[in-house]
Amino acid sequence: MLRLRFPIVIIDEDYRSENTSGLGIRALADAIQKEGFEVLGATSYGDLSQFAQQQSRASAFILSIDDEEFTSGPELDPAVVNLRKFIEEIRFKNADIPIYIYGETRTSQHLPNDILRELHGFIHMFEDTPEFVARHIIREAKSYLDGLAPPFFKALMDYAQDGSYSWHCPGHSGGVAFLKSPVGQMFHQFFGENMLRADVCNAVEELGQLLDHTGPVAASEKNAARIFNADHCFFVTNGTSTSNKMVWHHTVAPGDVVVVDRNCHKSILHSIIMTGAVPVFMTPTRNHYGIIGPIPESEFSPEAIRKKIAANPLLQGVDVASVKPRIMTLTQSTYDGVLYNTETIKAKLDGWIDTLHFDEAWLPHAAFHPFYGSYHAMGKNRPRPKTAMVYATQSTHKLLAGLSQASQVLVQDSQDVKLDKHLFNEAYLMHTSTSPQYSIIASCDVAAAMMEPPGGTALVEESISEAMDFRRAMRKVDAEYEEDWWFKVWGPDGLTPQGYGKPADWMLGADEQWHGFGNIAPGFNMLDPIKCTVITPGLDMSGKFAETGIPASIVTKFLAEHGVVVEKTGLYSFFILFTIGITKGRWNTLLTALQQFKDDYDKNAPLWRILPEFCAAHPRYERMGLKDLCQSIHGMYAKGDIARLTTDVYLSDLHPAMKPSDAYAHIAQRRTERVPIDDLEGRVTTVLLTPYPPGIPLLIPGERFNKKIVDYLKFTRDFNALYPGFATDVHGLVEEKGDDGRSRYFVDCVAA
Ligand SMILES: *Cc1c(COP(=O)(O)O)cnc(C)c1O
Repeated sequence: MLRLRFPIVIIDEDYRSENTSGLGIRALADAIQKEGFEVLGATSYGDLSQFAQQQSRASAFILSIDDEEFTSGPELDPAVVNLRKFIEEIRFKNADIPIYIYGETRTSQHLPNDILRELHGFIHMFEDTPEFVARHIIREAKSYLDGLAPPFFKALMDYAQDGSYSWHCPGHSGGVAFLKSPVGQMFHQFFGENMLRADVCNAVEELGQLLDHTGPVAASEKNAARIFNADHCFFVTNGTSTSNKMVWHHTVAPGDVVVVDRNCHKSILHSIIMTGAVPVFMTPTRNHYGIIGPIPESEFSPEAIRKKIAANPLLQGVDVASVKPRIMTLTQSTYDGVLYNTETIKAKLDGWIDTLHFDEAWLPHAAFHPFYGSYHAMGKNRPRPKTAMVYATQSTHKLLAGLSQASQVLVQDSQDVKLDKHLFNEAYLMHTSTSPQYSIIASCDVAAAMMEPPGGTALVEESISEAMDFRRAMRKVDAEYEEDWWFKVWGPDGLTPQGYGKPADWMLGADEQWHGFGNIAPGFNMLDPIKCTVITPGLDMSGKFAETGIPASIVTKFLAEHGVVVEKTGLYSFFILFTIGITKGRWNTLLTALQQFKDDYDKNAPLWRILPEFCAAHPRYERMGLKDLCQSIHGMYAKGDIARLTTDVYLSDLHPAMKPSDAYAHIAQRRTERVPIDDLEGRVTTVLLTPYPPGIPLLIPGERFNKKIVDYLKFTRDFNALYPGFATDVHGLVEEKGDDGRSRYFVDCVAA
């Protein structure tokens, strides 16, 4: 029997006292423990409300209250006020956990109804034996715990515990194989018995089949569909990269015209290559910080899209009026946290494009808080498009509590068309391993169950609140430095002094200075406050460099050596996320580390001291000071006018010379040529060219290199030679070391 540790929590100020009331409550605690349940005793609510983790570990609450306390009448009595506050706090997160009041007999008549309503029972101090009361509470606590686990996770726990011998794969047989070798023992001890016992294969009938969506897996997918407001949910164990390919392979055939956000994840570009589609791109705005803004609302109109179809060299000769794009894919939540009003987009395209796909890899939390309104794909009580099916693909692992690669495809039927699950599953099977990882399925299941309101709403609210506190704390530090420099968090100028404010505060207004994305249509975009881009000094919004500057890559290197790892680093900005796993400790550590950085910068502290690991790997920096290094890299950026260059390369006109799949086919047919950077202009790439940061593909197979992109690559080459350790990594670039020890860079192009 798996021992789960969920204590019954007792809060009684007399818990440790030697009076009647103390004796009584301890007798009850003893009786509970004799039945095999753990008890956690506390003497005040305060002890507990600070510890959210303790609260979620409880299996029931017993709260004491004495009649004598009702001196000033129940409504005003501080004991009742505190009790109400505590119960409200529990119910804010948890509608089901049993709560008992323990007190003298008259108490129940004196408690207000709003409190009584939340109770599972009232224990009269001297009426029943402690043993009887204990059994009653334990029954309720057990029934509560039994209801916690969602279907698949429950079945998996049961299976892992029942101790049957398996002859099926995986070959480690519930972990036993590891025990036969020293390093295997180490692995076993590190990951633990349960993880290995639960690593089973799809021969286990009682768990159902992911690939056919049967049994407990199907029950869990259905449960998740309900929780995420979808008609269908498919758990995916290979990341949203795979979810995206499934959606596309179900819908797009060779030669189809597709409408795609240019700021999309590589998996979408892989989908274009894989399906043989002809992409028409919608171009997002950018500011000079390198932050990617929204695609203007006007680009979502059929007229604007038709214009692009007409202008596309690969679609010459087609009758534009008769083209119906197969799919529209949008990165919903850009990498910097900009969201679109999906209802506006659905209204504009419904009836013309039948598949609207929102890549919500970074937005699975939005459905659980009213703050996000219609700025995510599927919500409660929202209109259903007439003919367009809506798909959302979400990385459960990115913002919710999923294991790496946990992902899901959500589908909402239209008024006229229902998803044919059998046909969808053909694409699903094509991209799913026949040996899915069951812990990942279980984490999809649990992540969904965790988000069920009110618990999920409370979790999202907490991450928004923490993000707001962080933003306010950063402004406070800034204000205290007065004229001196400090880091800024990108966002609207006004910030509510308390709480998280209104969604309206987070809208991107037309021509507002802070975002720099120009004339944005009213109500079309908002910023998700939990996504924080921290701006470092040195560059202004117009792309102008200041005298001095602090490139973000140096800051994030410093942070990493202080145990703070950020999500992504740009030129003068870096990005952090307030997921539901955020803690105050985490963001406070970041804040102090940034102050430490400022201190070391102002003192020009020697690098060998503040970045010891980095200097050990790159001795050439040893004798520099922090400020010197910042100034040196800043100077090179300024000389190359790199902010403008990176913006320009992404906004430059790109001309496809052939279909992405045709260009890519040159690789399979070995008809490529490795072309040096200096000779690239005018050549056609067979590979995706993706600089990190920002990780957005610059050029896709079949597109031609223009001068700007070649200039950018030359700058990168020169920069990387001068500043080892700070190299911009460009995927798709082939590096070869010459006899002189210098690196040369090439791109694999279509052979001339
Ligand atoms: C991360 C990401 C993906 C891929 O998700 P994985 O779960 O890492 O495979 C897809 N789309 C976007 C927008 C992403 O950021």
